[in-house]
Amino acid sequence: MLISLATVIAMAMTHNHNYWYLLEAVAIVSALFFYLPGALIAAVIAVIAGLVLLPAPPDYVTYIRLLLISGLIGWFVGREQNSRKQLERLLMVDRLTGLHNYSYFIDRLEEERRRADRFGSKLSLAMIDIDHFKPFNDKYGHRLGNEFLIKLAKVLSKQVRTVDIVCRYGGEEFAVILPNTGKKAQDVAERMRMAVAATDFPVNKDGKVERKTISIGVATYPTDAEDDLQLIDRADEALYIAKESGRNLVIVYQSQGKDDNVSLTK
Ligand code: GH3
Ligand code: MG
Ligand code: MG
Repeated sequence: MLISLATVIAMAMTHNHNYWYLLEAVAIVSALFFYLPGALIAAVIAVIAGLVLLPAPPDYVTYIRLLLISGLIGWFVGREQNSRKQLERLLMVDRLTGLHNYSYFIDRLEEERRRADRFGSKLSLAMIDIDHFKPFNDKYGHRLGNEFLIKLAKVLSKQVRTVDIVCRYGGEEFAVILPNTGKKAQDVAERMRMAVAATDFPVNKDGKVERKTISIGVATYPTDAEDDLQLIDRADEALYIAKESGRNLVIVYQSQGKDDNVSLTK
């Protein structure tokens, strides 16, 4: 816009109409970078300036051409930009539950690990698996199983802070990234576990409900893992122990130094 104004003033002062092409160029570049609003503002400045300031303004065909070209480019670029954003969103979201998907999870975990390195903060990860979900599917069918996954996603999301990132890791497994969180991760996991265990899930129209439980493994970076991928392994190991120890449990991975001599406790 500033370039438009400067060009107009230059044209008015020098009476040199060749600068008009610069105005057109500014309108078109604005269309490319600022889409329709940018294009129209630049074009309108050019038109008004042409009418008011120039001793011999360009004819109206030139104005219409400028408005049309920059307007069309701005509209088209804006539309493309919107579809790109929509597509990017679709690539990051799990279609069934509306949570972030695996691909988002893996990128975000790396990003949060970098942030933890930069600020010397802790980062925790909770891996969640539904207990005995296969029998539930076998009994009620996969469609109701999917309904359960949708409800579970909502229950989990309600128990975490807005900065925490709840993702569908795959199938009936979920992962929650807890930035800036060390020991407190256990409390969050416990809250999620209890909330799920207390949730009634309707399984037929007569009001029959089922309750399901989840098992959770928690690990913390950098205490338990050297990088983000190892953090997943550690949380997974803890989850495995939760399953082995009877399910409906939160197990926190506890490392004793950075060697392989580790113990896992509830
Ligand atoms: P465990 O307590 O050991 O976890 O027992 P489980 O039956 O839950 O076993 P597992 O964790 O291996 O879960 C696998 C089952 O989860 C298989 C399938 O029935 C169900 N499942 C996985 N993904 C989906 C899904 O997208 N929709 C539905 N409805 N069910 C799924
Ligand atoms: Mg599983
Ligand atoms: Mg399971």
